[in-house]
Amino acid sequence: MSPLPHELGGSSLWDPRFGAELCTILRLLGAADLSLARIFEGHVNAVGLVCRYGTQAQIEGLAGSVRDGALSAVWGADDAQGLRITPERDGNVLKGRKILASGAGFVTRPLVTASAPEGQQMCLLDLEIGYAHDTSSWQAQGMRATATGTVDFTGRRITDRERIGAPGDFMRQPHFSGGAWRFCAVHTGATERLVDLFREHLNSSARGEDAYQLERLATCVADATTARFWVEDAARRLAVEDDPESIVAFANLTRMVVERSALTVMETVQRGIGLRAFVRPHDVERICRDLATYLRQPVPDRAMSDGAQVFLSSSRSAGDF
Ligand SMILES: Cc1cc2nc3c(=O)[nH]c(=O)nc-3n(C[C@H](O)[C@H](O)[C@H](O)COP(=O)(O)OP(=O)(O)OC[C@H]3O[C@@H](n4cnc5c(N)ncnc54)[C@H](O)[C@@H]3O)c2cc1C
Repeated sequence: MSPLPHELGGSSLWDPRFGAELCTILRLLGAADLSLARIFEGHVNAVGLVCRYGTQAQIEGLAGSVRDGALSAVWGADDAQGLRITPERDGNVLKGRKILASGAGFVTRPLVTASAPEGQQMCLLDLEIGYAHDTSSWQAQGMRATATGTVDFTGRRITDRERIGAPGDFMRQPHFSGGAWRFCAVHTGATERLVDLFREHLNSSARGEDAYQLERLATCVADATTARFWVEDAARRLAVEDDPESIVAFANLTRMVVERSALTVMETVQRGIGLRAFVRPHDVERICRDLATYLRQPVPDRAMSDGAQVFLSSSRSAGDF
C-alpha cells in the first residue's frame, strides 16, 4: 500500500515529494533482493501513473485492489506488432501482447500501454491470476525470480473506465525519463551491498591489510557513494525543479553514472574475492548475476548523449548544471 496516497491508507511514496524516503526504500530492497525490488519498483511506477493521470475513481479502485493483496506493474515493452486497441462492432478490443512483463501471471492490476488511433494509451487492467502469460522463454542470466514474460491480450475487451489519462500521457516529461532515478536507486543499493560483502570477505579472510585490496575497497566505496549522491539528487530534482529538460538531462546522466559505478564495483569485487565470488551460494555471485542483468535498461547510449546534448546547448557552467 505504501505507494498509494495517505488518505487511501498508503504513505504517498508515488509522490515525488517523498522521493528521499522512496530512494532509501529502493536502495534497501535493491541490497536485499533485486528481483523483489524490480517488482516493487514497477508497482510504485504504476501507482504513480494512475495517481498522476487517472480519475479519483480509478485511484480508489486501484487502492481497493492493492488493499486486497493485488500488485500493479507497468508493462510497456512491445514486440514488433505491439499491443493495439482496435474498434469492433460492439466496443474496443485489445490485439497483441506485451513482452518483458515482470510479474507475468501474478500481477493482476497491470498498467499496459497500447496504441490507439489517437496515440499511445495507458490502460489499467483487472486480470485473474495466471492470465494468458508465458514465462518459459525467460532464461536470463539473472532476475529469474521476477517471472518476466509475455502476456497475450488478443480479444480482451477494453472499456473507457480502464483508460488512464489521455493519449501520450505515458511518455510525458519530466516524469517518463526523470523517474529513471528509481531503478538507479535499486541498482545503487545492490552496488552498496557488494561493497559491504567485499569488506566482510577481506575481514574474515584477513586479507584487508594488503595495499592492493585496500585500493580496491577505496574504489568501491567511492563509486557506490558517487552513485548514491547522484540518485538522491535526481530524486530531489524531480520534486523541486520546474525545468523538465534539465530534470531529464540529470536523470539521464544519473543512469550513466550508476551503470558505470555498478560495473566497476562488480569487476573490482570479483577480482578482489576471486573464484569464490562466482560459486553459489555466495551472495556476491547472486547479486552480480542479477545486477548485470537488471543494469540492461532501454537505450543507455541515447540517454547519455541526450544528457550531454542539453549541456552542450546550455550556457550554464558545469558547476551550476
Ligand atoms: C529484469 C527485467 C525486468 C523487466 N521488466 C519489465 C517490465 O515489467 N515492463 C517493461 O515494459 N519492460 C521490462 N523490462 C524491459 C526493460 O524496460 C527494457 O526494455 C530492456 O531491459 C531493454 O534492454 P536492452 O538491453 O534490450 O535495451 P536496448 O535499448 O535494446 O539497448 C541495447 C543496446 O543497444 C543500443 N541501442 C538501442 N537502440 C539503438 C538504436 N536504434 N541504434 C543503435 N543502438 C541502439 C543501446 O544504447 C544499448 O547499447 C525488464 C527488463 C529486465 C532486465
